[in-house]
This record gives sequence, C-alpha cells and structure tokens, in this order.
Amino acid sequence: MKIVFTSAFLLITTFLIAQTDQKIYDIIDNVSANRIEKDIKTLAGFGTRHTLSDTVSQTRGIGAARRWIKSEFDKISAACNDCLEVFYQKDLVKKGANQRIVKDVWVVNVVAIQRGTKYPNRFIIMSGDIDSRISDPTNYTDDAPGANDNASGMAGAIEAARVLSKYQFESSIIYVGLSGEEQGLFGGKGLTKYAKEKNWEIVGIMNNDMIGNIKGVDGVIDNRTFRIFSEPVPPTETEEQRKSRRFYGGEVDGISRQLARYIHKNVKTYMPEMNPMLVYRLDRFGRGGHHRPFNDAGFAGIRIMEAHENYTQQHQDIREDNGIKYGDVVEHVNFDYAAKLTSVNAINLASIAWAPPAVKEVEIGGIVEPSVKFRWKKIDDPNIKGYKIYWRDTTSPTWDHSRFVGDVDNFVLKGIVIDNYLFGLSTVGKNGFESPVTFPSKNFR
Ligand SMILES: [Zn+2]
Repeated sequence: MKIVFTSAFLLITTFLIAQTDQKIYDIIDNVSANRIEKDIKTLAGFGTRHTLSDTVSQTRGIGAARRWIKSEFDKISAACNDCLEVFYQKDLVKKGANQRIVKDVWVVNVVAIQRGTKYPNRFIIMSGDIDSRISDPTNYTDDAPGANDNASGMAGAIEAARVLSKYQFESSIIYVGLSGEEQGLFGGKGLTKYAKEKNWEIVGIMNNDMIGNIKGVDGVIDNRTFRIFSEPVPPTETEEQRKSRRFYGGEVDGISRQLARYIHKNVKTYMPEMNPMLVYRLDRFGRGGHHRPFNDAGFAGIRIMEAHENYTQQHQDIREDNGIKYGDVVEHVNFDYAAKLTSVNAINLASIAWAPPAVKEVEIGGIVEPSVKFRWKKIDDPNIKGYKIYWRDTTSPTWDHSRFVGDVDNFVLKGIVIDNYLFGLSTVGKNGFESPVTFPSKNFR
C-alpha cells in the first residue's frame, strides 16, 4: 500500500516538474530593480540623449550615453568569458530626411549578441531606445532626461543581458539600444537593413518602450497590468495570401500575433501576479515604436509597455503649469514595475532561445470531414521531442487547447470539425521548451 502511494506521489511530482522549469523562476528572481534604478538614473543623468545632441562630451548628450551603454555591455561580456559580441551599428541620416532631421547625423545603435550554440544565425531580440526628446522634437540642447521614455526600456535590455549571460542558449539573443526613435524610427530601420544584409534569421523582436510608469493620466494606478501590442498580419504579405485568408482564416494569426500569444502564455504560467493585455493592433492609436521597422521588413515584432501612460510625463519640457509637474523625470519611474517587465522579456528570450525552431510550413486539411488533418516537414534536430497541435475557438484570443502528438510529420485530430476552430503547431524540445506556434499556410485534401 505504501509503495503504491509513493509511486503515485512521484508520478504527480514528475508531472508538475514537466510543466515548468526552475531556470525560468531563477531568471525572474535574478532581475534586479536596484540595478535598473541605477541605470535609469545614469541614463537620465546625461542631460539629453536627443539623437542630434552632443557626441563629444563625456558627460552630456547621446555620444556619452551610447559609450556608457557599450561599456556596460562590455563589462557584462568580460564577466561571462566574452559571451557577448558588442558593437556599434550606424547609418548616416542626411539633413532633411524628414522635418525632425535638422542636420546630418549618425544614428548609432549599440548591439550585444549572445551567440547561440546550435543556431548561431537565429536571433530573438530585445530592444530599448537610447534617444529622448522634449516638447519640440528638434530641440537637441535642453534637458530631456527621458527617464521612462525610454531609459526604462534601455535599462531593461542591459539588465536582461546581465541575467541571461549566465546561461548558454541554442539560439542567439540580441540585446540592443536603438537610436533615432523619436526622429522617425531610424535606428530600427538601420538594424533591419543590417540584418537583411547579414541574412539573419529573426524569430522576432520584443521592443520595450516605456516600461516604468504605473500612474496613468486616467487616474489608474496599476503595477500589474502591461500591454503586448502586435499587428494582425505582416504588411509584406502577398495579394494571394490576403485573398486566401478570406476562405481559410488567419485575419488575427500573423507571426507577430503568435509571438504575442507566446509571451502572454509564458507570463501567465511563470508570473501569475501579472496581467498581460494582448492588444490587437500594431501600436497605440496613431503612434509608433521601434518594432514597426522590423514588421515592415517581414519579421515578427511586438511592443511591450505599461498599460497606463501619463502624457504629462512624456515628450514634455520640464516645467510646472497649474500645479502639474511636466517632464519625463526619474521621480515618476517605478523601478519594481520596470523590473517585472524586464523579467517578462528575459523569460521569453530564454524560452525561445532554449526551444527548437518552429516548423516553417504547416499544411492543414479536413474540408467536409469529421476530423482535421495536418502535415509538416520535421525539423532535423536530435533534441526535438516532438510536435504539439494547438486549437482554439475562432473568437478566442489564446491557444486554449493543445495535444502533444509525438515526433511525427502528420496527424489526424479525430472528432474535431475544422470549421469551428483555428489551429497551429509548435515544436517541443526534449528540454521542455517550446517554439512559438506556426499557423497553417497551405491546404490539402
Ligand atoms: Zn517617445
């Protein structure tokens, strides 16, 4: 009797362990709000980080800021046996490129690559922005501390590098500070061009822009909720793909949306105290961010940010008017919240970089049949445990049902009518980590 009890207990324990991974909890625990606070203060302390600001001074302007960011990445790399490749990636933007470029300027990004052991050319990216602004977007001399917008995202990317550099991953992770955001997303455009030239296989970018404000202009104070913005389908899709969607579905199932769902699920699993909001749009109403150039180039990309913005504290001259304190200063940043959102990034960077690649193309069939059938090309990787089919009601935002089907290249899901659900497929590694979901792109009879 006692033996039976023990084995049942062991079975339950094994089952529980298989659901989560201790390393992910360790990553969450190791993200430091204190270090993020220190870095946000350092970044705000450069006075202005406007893209067109001073590049010569050691203490003020975007030049000093990017040299400091590079030195932080270099320090992290020195502590992990040179595990990071740290470099500047830059492009010259000519005066008049748009109204906000009032003189020729080098838009300089700071890139740190943690090379994957098995898939060195496959990348998952976390970005923040280096640059800041005040009321007049062309004022590059007055103080623009940009503490929340976007020293918070930049500090998060540096902190994620500190924590994740203690581990080795199968795919590569990039931590990057992008510049030229406020002048017209120039840094993101430059890095996507560079990525295309280098033939990088990009799984996606998690762009962090304002991850430290918990007191909204709407009066809401909330340190748990945050937003994951993702566009529905890539702007690069063909007319044929657009037409086919009308008959087979997929209006809300583009690659960026699958990345957003992946993050949402991981946060629900490992950080149940947080409330991730899947927002079904590219970005806020009529506003932009640095994931967009990646989307424009056909890569998956999402924006992570606070749920309640405060417009008196972004893009504002520092001043007091009618008792309201305007300006994006350090006092308004909540460092614990910024640390939480940094953890959100870190656990998803790690999960994707530990997971095997997703299947490129999934075919689906089942028209006028009582079952759904799938076929795909298996990925050649001995560490793959198998594949998992996901499905959900057509009205559901999340992949609510799943079935692991083993290391096979086709499967029939019996008793499920294709018309009533949407479907996808992920790859599961022997280490338990899983790829984002691939939505079917072909049909068969
Ligand atoms: Zn901004």
